[in-house]
Amino acid sequence: MRNRMINITALVILALILMACNPTQPQTSSETPGKLKVVATTTIVGDVVSNVGDDLIDLTILLPIGTDPHAFDPNPQDVVKISDAKIIFINGAGLETFLEPLLENANTKNKVISVSEGIDLINTSNNQEEKSAANPKNSYDPHVWTDPNNTIVWVDNIEKALIEADPNNAAAYHKNAENYRAELHDLDQWIRNQVSQIPPENRNIITDHLIFAYFARRYDFNQIGAIISGYSTLAQPSAQELAALEEAIHKVGVRVILVGNTINPNLAERVAEDTGSQLVFIYTGSLSPKGDGASTYLDYIRYNVNAIVNALK
Ligand SMILES: [Zn+2]
Repeated sequence: MRNRMINITALVILALILMACNPTQPQTSSETPGKLKVVATTTIVGDVVSNVGDDLIDLTILLPIGTDPHAFDPNPQDVVKISDAKIIFINGAGLETFLEPLLENANTKNKVISVSEGIDLINTSNNQEEKSAANPKNSYDPHVWTDPNNTIVWVDNIEKALIEADPNNAAAYHKNAENYRAELHDLDQWIRNQVSQIPPENRNIITDHLIFAYFARRYDFNQIGAIISGYSTLAQPSAQELAALEEAIHKVGVRVILVGNTINPNLAERVAEDTGSQLVFIYTGSLSPKGDGASTYLDYIRYNVNAIVNALK
């Protein structure tokens, strides 16, 4: 922890030097004068922000596609991007652990908005692994976006923050937010229709790490377990934990393990082999590159729900 603090301090100093050497900041070349400068942390938060802000904002997404948000390591350029922005939209709920010291050091003119503010968060405090591992403060499951009804709360928060920072465009932000909320309502309905194909006794989910608690709560699934038994990818499973998971797989009879795009699949492959389970690819902490079928939040949810329905129905 101490080493990390020193690293962050070094990063901030480096960033200040970079800014001093580069007063015009050519590295954010997409910037447009006059537009509200906004940073979003993950590609998922970024896509929702872009649906509300559209071409009225100058949006920078911090994490590259495919990055594991639990383990993100910011570089000096990221510090510059954060210092430059008027609003920094974070997922919150403890997802951006590595960003916290950096945000604390960010320019106080910047506003950090947790888009998950107001969501009924799932408490993970009784998960000892999670508490004692790399995330001692984090006692909530951050994967709120697996339920589009939570993403509607994101839209409310994003709309409010953009209007506050740029009241001249309030009507446009409000219209965009209304349109996108309607799409999210439709998505929720679509999910209900899709999952109705899965008999109740088959609604058991095993993943690489626990990302579907909000989805499970909304659409009546059981999250049986995960290869990494926590709500973050940072913990390492012990041999006993893996054995317990394999036993649970045998007991419940689930023969499908959902594996995400932001994690090393080796362990999942081993458990699949031991238990005769099928590995099914899904998207977890990041959207896909353009053209790969999950490059927007709406497509990301559709992709994952289709994968789950096809595997379990
Ligand atoms: Zn995660």
